[in-house]
Amino acid sequence: MHLYGTQTVTSEGHLAIGGVDTVELAKEYGTPAFIYDIALFRERARGFVETFKKENVKAQVAYASKAFSAVAIYQVAQQEGLSVDVVSGGELFTALKAGFPTEKIHFHGNNKSVEELTYALDAKIGCIVIDNFYEIELLKQLTRERQQKMAVLIRVTPGVEAHTHDFITTGQADSKFGFDLSNGQADEAFKALYKDEYLQLKGMHCHIGSQIFETEAFSLAAKKVVDKMAEWKQQYAFEATVLNLGGGFGIRYTAEDAPLEPAVYVDDMIKAVKKEAEAFGIELPEIWIEPGRSLVGDAGTTLYTVGSHKTVPDVREYIAVDGGMSDNIRPALYEAKYEGAIANNMNAALTTNYTVAGKLCESGDKIIEDIKLPEVQTGDILATFCTGAYGYSMASNYNRVGRPAVVFVENGNHQLAVKRESYEDMAQLDIELKW
Ligand SMILES: *Cc1c(COP(=O)(O)O)cnc(C)c1O
Repeated sequence: MHLYGTQTVTSEGHLAIGGVDTVELAKEYGTPAFIYDIALFRERARGFVETFKKENVKAQVAYASKAFSAVAIYQVAQQEGLSVDVVSGGELFTALKAGFPTEKIHFHGNNKSVEELTYALDAKIGCIVIDNFYEIELLKQLTRERQQKMAVLIRVTPGVEAHTHDFITTGQADSKFGFDLSNGQADEAFKALYKDEYLQLKGMHCHIGSQIFETEAFSLAAKKVVDKMAEWKQQYAFEATVLNLGGGFGIRYTAEDAPLEPAVYVDDMIKAVKKEAEAFGIELPEIWIEPGRSLVGDAGTTLYTVGSHKTVPDVREYIAVDGGMSDNIRPALYEAKYEGAIANNMNAALTTNYTVAGKLCESGDKIIEDIKLPEVQTGDILATFCTGAYGYSMASNYNRVGRPAVVFVENGNHQLAVKRESYEDMAQLDIELKW
């Protein structure tokens, strides 16, 4: 069995994370619960940050907080010297609530509202990544009215298709995000921005997809974007100072995934950017990256309690847990695969094939299809691994199932980071009929 980060098996055969017994965590905080291995988050963050330092390249590593947004994780990101990306007013609010340094907040999105842009300007965040012509006009108007300067990047689609699931690929020309690099739209956006009095164009951004396992895709994207920077320098004497290559670094969900170390992605990126910059005689821009999944994904483990069993003779053995697609939509949405284990029985032989179903009213609500586990009893704690990214952040109240508790563990310490949602919490926004 593959254990992640600080996961170990105790002498009693229990799964421990961060030096804390998960069976105890399940007792104290209830299930389902997301357990975050904060030491592993730090290790991943440092893997990115220190590689840039070692290579002496100016950089910003921005945590793409849509992967998991909560006050406590912004605090950890700040402790590690990261920047953060937000994609909505809600994420911006949460980052500000955590006291995150405003100048290190970057704002993304293909349809930022006037209210969201105004909020970002009020907060004086570090950078807005402009996605489309509508946003250019909106931001020009807002900054002119307010006589306020704002650093911006142009988001481009470099036409590099990363090898990943179609639904989560954003780098092709036919994308809802950004300006196409080859059909003239990126140039048009550039011309609308580079002389603006208030919008201060720093460079370009691209994000070519997610769960990417090879470095060539990033190198190719870097080459295309740097080539465009060189063109703008030649034609307009514009010096780009920032090249943001996005996120998308792959992680290990199952034995089929073979991710690279953060350092390898970064090293290859730096090489590609240096090579192109030298070839075209432009200054090496600052390189910004935006890992989301690769910072929090394998740091997260979900604990469930097993309830009902169902045998379909000669076909399948189901066990059902006390959560499901309301806390992990990815299997239903992307056919995402997960591994798991019985947290209170880690050393037993894996004798039986199960399908792990959730408790939500959808046939597709399955967390894992075909997993070998020991003989499972009602009341056992099932751990599913690698649920830290796009799990809690995509959670819903479908069936009015409350969202799980989130617990941080590190060095033998544990603390609640997000409370479990109660029935009362869920009904809080409801208003009684008045007629
Ligand atoms: C989602 C997203 C990321 C993070 O992607 P991961 O696959 O989680 O690393 C980074 N940048 C942008 C613009 C994104 O939309």
